[in-house]
Amino acid sequence: MSRTIPIDRFYGSLPNLLRKYEKYGRQDYFKGTTREQFLKWQKETRTLLTGLLGLDKMESCPLDPQVVERVELEDGIVREKVILQVEPECYMPVYILIPTGSGAKNRCFLAPPGHQGAGKYSVAGRWDIPAVADAIRRYNYDYGMMLAKAGYTAFCPDCRGFGERRDEGLRNDSESSFLNSTCYNLAHMAEAMGETVIGMCTWDLMRLIDYIYDRGQWDTRYLGCLGFSGGGMQTLWLSALDERVKLCVISGYLYGYRDSLLKLHGNCSCNYVPGLYEHLDMGDIASLIAPRPVLIQSCRDDHLNGERGLINVVEQLEIMRRAYQLFDREQFPLHDVREGDHCFHPDAVPQMIAQMEQFISEQS
Ligand SMILES: [Zn+2]
Repeated sequence: MSRTIPIDRFYGSLPNLLRKYEKYGRQDYFKGTTREQFLKWQKETRTLLTGLLGLDKMESCPLDPQVVERVELEDGIVREKVILQVEPECYMPVYILIPTGSGAKNRCFLAPPGHQGAGKYSVAGRWDIPAVADAIRRYNYDYGMMLAKAGYTAFCPDCRGFGERRDEGLRNDSESSFLNSTCYNLAHMAEAMGETVIGMCTWDLMRLIDYIYDRGQWDTRYLGCLGFSGGGMQTLWLSALDERVKLCVISGYLYGYRDSLLKLHGNCSCNYVPGLYEHLDMGDIASLIAPRPVLIQSCRDDHLNGERGLINVVEQLEIMRRAYQLFDREQFPLHDVREGDHCFHPDAVPQMIAQMEQFISEQS
């Protein structure tokens, strides 16, 4: 005998929240028509987002870098492991893949990780760990290694809650705990403190750029950031807020908030910034990257695009395109559309990065 009774009608909150989204959402999108007005809006919007993300609560400190491991891999790639102090008593392990062969460039990329790949282990291509190898196969998750094989030094950090930065709840050696992250728990800890996971991750990547500048080994005029899924989210926010990123590749993370994170509300808590929807949609945030070169990669059947599929992506790209038009850069954002569900596709990426680098060198 059943211990419950069937419910034939539910009284949920979504219709009401959608109504409010229409009424109050996206109040601070760019409404001007000139480059000067855009630059003013860009500055003000960065200040607004700095507050919403809680970036103003982050505490600076000496990076105190410790190189704890140095391994020579095949293909002439050296993998260093460095621990950086990103805030006082808050440490970020980073794998740095450094090509040393004849194809090595003096250019570098940040390659932040997404969910379900054990943080830096999948991005840096740890095929020797079987659970990580499966995650790499599933999403082509080893994009840090892809970059290193193309000659770039790739910085593959554990973002907060991932890999060696897992918080108390997942500190055990089960495969599931190893692959997954505590960003969900971290959101609970952060938000009541006036912070956000996105703010923490953005801050940490800014500190990683500080470290790249300190080492002085790379040509920062071409400093790139590339990420898929949650790594795409971090690439979006970092590039929007830090102009030291000169070109970026965002895969599997560019769509309208209404369909993809309000109607679809089962995504991880690390996606959510209190108060954000009232101000901006995702395309507005991505517009802050203008006029720097950017490549967006989308999969046609990515369930995260929401019920309207690619339309929900293209609408946001149009918002971005209007910003780039003000700088006479209609060719951006580049858009690489692939078939299938949520996945990174390396195929055309190195060639499109070369195209963006060529554009930068022509401008300088
Ligand atoms: Zn998360």
